[in-house]
Amino acid sequence: MNLFEYQARGLLGRYGLPIPPGDVATRPEEARQIAEGLSKGPFVVKAQILAGGRGKGHFRSGFAGGVHLCSYPAEVEEVARAMLGGVLVTAQTGPEGRPVNKVLVAEAPQISRELYLAILIDRGRRRSVVVGSAQGGVDIEEVARESPGEIHRIWVDPQVGFWPYQARTLAACMGLCGSLLPQTADLIVRLYRFFCECDASLAEINPLAVIENEKIAVIDAKIGLDENALFRHPEVATYRNEVVEDGREAEALKAGLNYVGLSGEIGCMVNGAGLAMATMDILHRYGGEPANFLDVGGGADQNQVTKAFGILMADPKVRAIFVHIFGGIMRCDVIARGIVEAVTHTKPKVPIVVRLQGTNFEEGKAILHQSGLPIRTADDLADAAQKAVAAAAETR
Ligand code: GDP
Ligand code: MG
Repeated sequence: MNLFEYQARGLLGRYGLPIPPGDVATRPEEARQIAEGLSKGPFVVKAQILAGGRGKGHFRSGFAGGVHLCSYPAEVEEVARAMLGGVLVTAQTGPEGRPVNKVLVAEAPQISRELYLAILIDRGRRRSVVVGSAQGGVDIEEVARESPGEIHRIWVDPQVGFWPYQARTLAACMGLCGSLLPQTADLIVRLYRFFCECDASLAEINPLAVIENEKIAVIDAKIGLDENALFRHPEVATYRNEVVEDGREAEALKAGLNYVGLSGEIGCMVNGAGLAMATMDILHRYGGEPANFLDVGGGADQNQVTKAFGILMADPKVRAIFVHIFGGIMRCDVIARGIVEAVTHTKPKVPIVVRLQGTNFEEGKAILHQSGLPIRTADDLADAAQKAVAAAAETR
């Protein structure tokens, strides 16, 4: 789960990292008020999207860039008005861009040097790695490509932990000296503590900047958290509702379903993540495109099946629904009754293909047939996938 910059700032602030003061706004007037409440200008207004490259991006409206420096609160309001409700396209968003519903307004210190700092997991070495470079900022990808020697890495042995001398070594490699060196070393140690305690998978500060009076500051932060560890962080779990940008995903989250929206036209309802992936693969093989990944879970009940149907049907791209359930702990007759109930209740306007396999599958199929509902059943994986692809083509 990736966080918005304003959320990342909140979390890192708790660990004592130096971050210029600011706040998030959803309305232009609110952005102005935040600027008025800050002790000094200039100010920076930053579009909040879950993608980087904002500085070099552009809005669909033609407005340039998702990061703007402003001298006065009135200007902050104007820039916020141009950004809010707009769609920002950057090198990381794809051509469709991302909608901007929030802007961050913060004090914008003068920057004399832009550095790069990140902690991530090196799966190959089975440990985390702290990465630093004297050359940070918006061109970091180019630095990595053209002068990889400028990127320094320190791998951390999880049993020994991260030591202050390692932080000082990295800070020195990043070209810092004088009072900046201990400041930065302290910041790296804090960032590492955050990384471990919050079960992060990525903590990237770009730029980490040298600002007025030889101080170090976090100017931009990108954080990824391990979703499987969210139960340990109830305070952070509430962020999750805010980071779900896809309306379909937000609905599924409320219903307790494991859903990822995709761009195809076959709505899939499957139990088990492995089967869900196999289903997507087989659809591809027969020329179909899934509209989503949806795992209703091993113990999905009728209520969840109904909700899942509702989410699939609310998606205008969906041209056919493919229900693919393996009855292990769940019996197929129970599932079949759930499907009949859900279909009767929600009256889908697109064809439905169902494949049930496993415990009591014959009984399940009989229930579907006897219902008199327009449900097409299939026997094996290939047959089911072909029927689903054909059904989607019919309604196109
Ligand atoms: P990104 O393009 O999405 O990575 O957004 P950033 O927050 O990293 O901003 C891009 C660039 O804008 C930075 O590398 C800085 O050069 C500049 N910038 C962002 N915030 C500030 C600020 O507070 N003060 C100054 N002087 N420049 C800033
Ligand atoms: Mg950045």
